[in-house]
Amino acid sequence: MSRTRARTAAVVGAGAAGLVAARELLREGHAVTVFERSGRVGGTWAYDARSDPDPLGLDPAAPGAVHGSLYASLRTNLPRELMGFSGFALQGRVFAGDPRTFPGHREVLAFLDAFAEESGVAGHVRLRAEVRRLRPLGPGEGWSVEWRGDAGDAEEVFDAVVVCNGHCTVPLVPKLRGIENWRGNHMHSHNYRTPEPFQDQVVVVVGLGASGVDIAREISKVAKEVHIASRYTQDRVGKVDIYQNVWLRSEVDCIQDDGKVCFMEGSAVTADTILYCTGYRYHFPFLDVDDFTVDDNRVGPLYNHVFPPKYAPSLSFVGLPSKSIVLQTIEMEARWVARVLSGRAELPSEADMAAAVQEHNRRMEAAGKPKRHTHVLMPGWAEHIDWLAAQVGEPPLEARRRNMYEKALRCIWTLDERYRDTWDDDEDDDEQEEEEENKCIA
Ligand SMILES: Cc1cc2nc3c(=O)[nH]c(=O)nc-3n(C[C@H](O)[C@H](O)[C@H](O)COP(=O)(O)OP(=O)(O)OC[C@H]3O[C@@H](n4cnc5c(N)ncnc54)[C@H](O)[C@@H]3O)c2cc1C
Repeated sequence: MSRTRARTAAVVGAGAAGLVAARELLREGHAVTVFERSGRVGGTWAYDARSDPDPLGLDPAAPGAVHGSLYASLRTNLPRELMGFSGFALQGRVFAGDPRTFPGHREVLAFLDAFAEESGVAGHVRLRAEVRRLRPLGPGEGWSVEWRGDAGDAEEVFDAVVVCNGHCTVPLVPKLRGIENWRGNHMHSHNYRTPEPFQDQVVVVVGLGASGVDIAREISKVAKEVHIASRYTQDRVGKVDIYQNVWLRSEVDCIQDDGKVCFMEGSAVTADTILYCTGYRYHFPFLDVDDFTVDDNRVGPLYNHVFPPKYAPSLSFVGLPSKSIVLQTIEMEARWVARVLSGRAELPSEADMAAAVQEHNRRMEAAGKPKRHTHVLMPGWAEHIDWLAAQVGEPPLEARRRNMYEKALRCIWTLDERYRDTWDDDEDDDEQEEEEENKCIA
């Protein structure tokens, strides 16, 4: 294989990232095989009513461990306008009878099914084909892909591999001080499906991300009390006005000797359950490469979250960043990979990419950011999209989409569930017009 012209590409995973990666690779003329270990495409969006036998889900290799982390009632946290792909929008078309601006998970899954079919990607997907080991062969000799399917184990060689195995499956569970004193139940949101098991309980929800907010709200309808603990509550600590039984707390300080959950602000509660909504760990059990690690949830080294300098461009990762317009970010990353492989976009030298990664890490350290936030794009989320767009010769993110995303985040943090049904698209047009006017004045 020449450094920039792949002929065959394996994609690991047929979730949103794998599907759009396959489309972009096909568009660039590559021969694509998508390996998907489950029986369907759609990844996370294929709701699975089962949950892990271990409520914390700490061992992804445990018998019965499940991939999906969606709860039964889940509706998107972004409006459908932000959840499509270019040339294939979720906006303006109904896929599973749910036309709401913030649809339920079945609508998104049906959208991904239709995308796979209509883009022609479906014909390149092998279902029930689990990639067990990926390893580089000699220089220029491509990658060995060992996989297991219905007919047993097999090995094939590809020029390039794009890893799209998802990162919302293996729980990240913080170790609370004094956890050995805890006698109640605990679980991670990965295993939360419905609120009924929390009837009349006092529940401490750890984490104030989109899932934490949704789940706390849903549980509050049946629970006695819900306490949401987060380092981001700052001056909002106290009872939440719009709910009878929900409190915002600062971070959990410790579990006291008497088993109470004590918060940083000094209050303590006797709780039945601690529910961790604390995010996920990156996990690549099949990857057999040197000089590449997941260290405190930093995957790397990775040039702009996508290419490991040592193996670029034949190994790439699509879909690692979080806290952004996810599907747009994934699509732009996929397009960059496809173009680099076909020679229509260029990468710096291995040494320059490695230096760029080091510089990025150095800046994070200087700003006091923990390693585990390496792939969290906030607050510079739009810069990553703009940077990728520049690599493939496309315009930066539209102001309308940026405003819409930031408005959605603000809505989530109000804790008021009505935002999904009272969302006004016209407001976004007004905001955009205002921004354009300001630009003209400036
Ligand atoms: C609770 C929750 C709510 C969310 N809400 C939103 C939202 O509202 N809007 C939004 O844009 N995003 C949301 N997301 C983010 C969501 O993860 C992305 O939208 C997107 O689905 C990620 O796609 P992916 O392809 O990267 O991963 P996944 O969807 O996880 O797909 C990965 C695929 O890889 C397969 N796989 C894994 N390992 C192997 C292997 N070894 N061999 C073969 N196949 C393998 C899996 O079976 C799976 O099908 C949410 C996520 C969660 C968990």
